[in-house]
Amino acid sequence: MVEVLVYTKAYCPYCKWAKQLLASKGVGFREIDVMSDAELERKMRKESGGRTVPQIFIDGRPYGGFDEISELDRRGKLDELLGLKPIRGGQGSPVPNAPVSENSRTEFSPLRVGGGSDGGVPPPETEDLVILGSGAAGLTAAIYAARANLKPLVIDGLQPGGQLTITTDVENYPGFPNGVMGPELMDLFRKQAERFGTRIIYGEVSQADLKRRPFALRLGPDKTVRARALIIATGATARWLGIPGEKPAPDGYGGRGVSACATCDAAFFQNQVVAVAGGGDTAMEESNFLTKFASKVILIHRRDKFRASKIMQARVLNNPKVEVRWNTAIAEVLGDGKVMTGLKLRSTADKSESRLDCQGFFVAIGHQPNTAPFRGQLDLDEIGYIRTIPGGGPRTSVPGVFAAGDVADRVYRQAVTAAGTGCMAALDAEKYLEETNHE
Ligand code: NDP
Repeated sequence: MVEVLVYTKAYCPYCKWAKQLLASKGVGFREIDVMSDAELERKMRKESGGRTVPQIFIDGRPYGGFDEISELDRRGKLDELLGLKPIRGGQGSPVPNAPVSENSRTEFSPLRVGGGSDGGVPPPETEDLVILGSGAAGLTAAIYAARANLKPLVIDGLQPGGQLTITTDVENYPGFPNGVMGPELMDLFRKQAERFGTRIIYGEVSQADLKRRPFALRLGPDKTVRARALIIATGATARWLGIPGEKPAPDGYGGRGVSACATCDAAFFQNQVVAVAGGGDTAMEESNFLTKFASKVILIHRRDKFRASKIMQARVLNNPKVEVRWNTAIAEVLGDGKVMTGLKLRSTADKSESRLDCQGFFVAIGHQPNTAPFRGQLDLDEIGYIRTIPGGGPRTSVPGVFAAGDVADRVYRQAVTAAGTGCMAALDAEKYLEETNHE
């Protein structure tokens, strides 16, 4: 049996996603919460070389955090490490006692479905409505579709609950006069969707065929789901700067000082100096939150003006623990080979360079829409956001495919607007299915 160990913290969404990913594989794992145990935290740091959570060990070997194991999963490697599949290329041997699937595939084959033509494998059931993504847009679509008796199937995506699960206080979602924590809000959405019969499965669509009907969606390396109507609410993923030293080990200091989640990792930087990159609401929120732990937060922005909302800016500018470095770009993450020790900064005004000593670095520079499986099949803009038909609400260039939330929104990107477009997408999908007699 493979032994899996996950170091976590209670309020860390990346930990939750890592656990969901492992659970979706049907493997058991041991969890150690290092939240309030400094000794365990030291042990985790020593054994993994990382200073962020989660840290995942398989058979005693550290594999990094959620991003690293989901990347392994995308490449089909996680199943091999977990003993669910023979190890490719004859290197090593399958893990003893591991259930080995006879028709496990290692590479994507062309998306063939239906008619039993897939190597004798019976065709998958066709769903009336599949919703991709379980953030505010996807789950609102699910609530409406489930109440319309469409029995929607939600495919969670790699970040169940979406971006709200990595924020702290949400103060602008109507109905919560005292604010609500992002993860709590998404739990409520989820329960409401499930109450009306929504089925939610964990997984990520790696390939889509929207030219055939029903649409075909490849989940992971070897599962296919078919759908008569599709709502894409896959949201957007945090962007990285792409500078030297930013990537996870062994290439850089990701997880060893560099993070994109203050909620998860702020507590590791007790009484230390940390830097934050960005000038939007996320950077403001992360900076403020970090001041609860860090001795000082240096907020680095490439221009001389923030784009964040006035109220969030004011909180940061009035916080004595935050120092803003205007007109400054980050050129490199510096370190001693084990952990990060500082940043190389470059003035955007006169190009002069300087060094900032800091132990942590939080990247908060916006998001990239998650549309890779739909490239070449749907009309996308130059960044990759789905283009909806002007005046057509959430309708896309393919009839029967609807887009909701951040994946199609370059402008508003709020929880409430995502929920609004999720509702519209569900109502339009219902109408579409009626007009096409669910065929
Ligand atoms: P934004 O796109 O609003 O801001 C991104 C910031 O990162 C900008 O200041 C941008 O600089 C900077 N940036 C982008 N690329 C680079 C780069 N390569 N190098 C350096 N800096 C860079 O993203 P956010 O994630 O902050 O916010 C997204 C949406 O979510 C917004 O609509 C926001 O209102 C919302 N949100 C709301 C919250 C709340 O209400 N509680 C909390 C968090 C987010 P520049 O300004 O120069 O372009």
